[in-house]
Amino acid sequence: MPTLDAFASQTLVIIPAHNEEECVGDVVRRLREIGFQRIRVVENASRDRTAQRAADAGAEVISHPRAGYGLACWVGGEEVPPDVVWLLYCNADASDDLDALHRYAELAPGHDLILGCRTMAEDRHAMSLPQRFGNWLAPFLIRVIWGYRFRDLGPQRAIRVEAYRRLEMQDRGFGWTVEMQVRAAEEGLRIVEIPVRTYPRPAGQQKISGTIRGTLMAGTIILRTIGQLAWRKKRRPIPRRTALARMVSTASDEPALVPHRPHFMTTPHLREGEASQDIISPDALPLQQVAGAKTDSQGFAHVLSQRGLTLRRGGTEILQINTGKLCNLTCVHCHVNAGPKRKEIITRETIDRIVAWLETTDIHTVDLTGGAPEMIPDFRYFIQRLRALPQVETIIDRCNLTILLEPGYEWAAQFIAQHRLKIVASMPCYEPANVNAQRGDGVFDASIRALQVLNRLGYGRSEELPLDLVYNPNGAFLPPDQAELEADYKRELKHHFGIDFHRLFAITNMPIARYKSWLKNNGKLDDYMDLLRTSFNPAAVDRLMCRNTLSIGWQGEVYDCDFNQQLGMQWRNGNPLSVWDIDISALDSRDIALGDHCFGCTAGSGSSCSGATLQSLSGG
Ligand code: SF4
Ligand code: SF4
Repeated sequence: MPTLDAFASQTLVIIPAHNEEECVGDVVRRLREIGFQRIRVVENASRDRTAQRAADAGAEVISHPRAGYGLACWVGGEEVPPDVVWLLYCNADASDDLDALHRYAELAPGHDLILGCRTMAEDRHAMSLPQRFGNWLAPFLIRVIWGYRFRDLGPQRAIRVEAYRRLEMQDRGFGWTVEMQVRAAEEGLRIVEIPVRTYPRPAGQQKISGTIRGTLMAGTIILRTIGQLAWRKKRRPIPRRTALARMVSTASDEPALVPHRPHFMTTPHLREGEASQDIISPDALPLQQVAGAKTDSQGFAHVLSQRGLTLRRGGTEILQINTGKLCNLTCVHCHVNAGPKRKEIITRETIDRIVAWLETTDIHTVDLTGGAPEMIPDFRYFIQRLRALPQVETIIDRCNLTILLEPGYEWAAQFIAQHRLKIVASMPCYEPANVNAQRGDGVFDASIRALQVLNRLGYGRSEELPLDLVYNPNGAFLPPDQAELEADYKRELKHHFGIDFHRLFAITNMPIARYKSWLKNNGKLDDYMDLLRTSFNPAAVDRLMCRNTLSIGWQGEVYDCDFNQQLGMQWRNGNPLSVWDIDISALDSRDIALGDHCFGCTAGSGSSCSGATLQSLSGG
């Protein structure tokens, strides 16, 4: 039986906090005393010192400008460190039963979702009447509609990271808890409820359950969420396998559930059901588990299989390194969720390990992406080490342009030119409105000025200093013809601003991370996925970048591509793999981890980090 310490070491605690300065510090300190060291307080739209109190107590604090319980929970579950197995949600108002956490640790093996159930506790009558009514009504409706029996919708809960990703949570308000439970039941997760006490908050004012208005509002939202989930269920029947797991177990009557079968994505040459968690594929290389991937008739792997197409790695020519999530911008389409407050950046120690590994290979191209690679403190050190490697011919800097003008980065353009980096720069349009809408106010003007600086250094005008621009659509549509668009860009940028560049890469937006959220929030996700599926181009499969590119993260972890990286689809061989664990000579023909986001690479003219894959065949 695992100890609380072991459970705590695998757990990221997420505490949504809105104006909770009175209590949040004590909650963080208490959790740390118990043994939880990774505590993330998501402070959204607070007008008090919540962030300061949480940080002083030792929590990682993420601030978000918008309020919303579900939004804070969702933000907290983004960018989870790779070694975290569990997410534990706690209240910031000290109302949770932290003494019950040892029960979570005991029940962790064999369960995916552990729910704190206030109505099972001896002091359940401490809950207000409206609370008790709400906690009867919602589970009653769930039982009628889904046939699952819950006893509470309490916020104190722990869920496995892998299971959480499968739920694809959408609610950003008070419907979060009920959505998680309904989706968990639909997905056939192994769920258990345990009795937990609920305490009156020691200081400050009760926010929701303490007022009739708050209780009514939360109740209405929960009922509306149940209605929406029921409507979705009607349109998308529950997978047959979940019918086996009708009853939620409790700590007293477990095990009541049929063991849950892990859900794996398989590559076309491996049938579903042949995979298990640590299986080694026939070529003795690891098969990647893909959380949340679909194996239905519309899934990417299935479509490949139907057409007799296979997708395996070839020789590795390009090492793409994501240096971290720190960026001076926060673009709407960003698949990295990068921004100025992100802390995840590559360290010098990791740089040294990557360079040492690179020395043993004949990889000729290193492609640096981020975030803004120039913002990592060891950027110059990294470039100098890479330039000292004789086999590395090309170093690509994926530059957002604006960073070159930021105070403190005046050195960057000159340094990049001196070290002959190839620049691939984002420029989603040649008109200000589109660029600013996607990337932020003033970004177009700053990008133009940065391009002019680069031109003066010789970029875009000399073959020695290549400057390529990247276009991506500013809506839910595919890029237009790359060659025609390049001609438009060249004409407009030259005419209006005197700017020269070499090539334009037209890249399809991938339905992941911030762009996926944008699609969801605008009700366009389903249509966009349909567009990608119906635009599937089998000719693009041969040119997929995952065949010859290895992607590594800021901690050295390995993926098939940067998109898989953002989805946490790290290579595993029982354990997560880092680049220094890899024997590059053994990678040919290795399986590639697939998901439905892969349709983004095969739609229309194909898409890669170097633009349209099919047009580039003809030099377009
Ligand atoms: S898209 Fe690029 S420039 Fe924009 S936020 Fe993401 S990493 Fe930064
Ligand atoms: S997202 Fe694209 S590059 Fe990545 S694994 Fe899928 S097909 Fe390959």
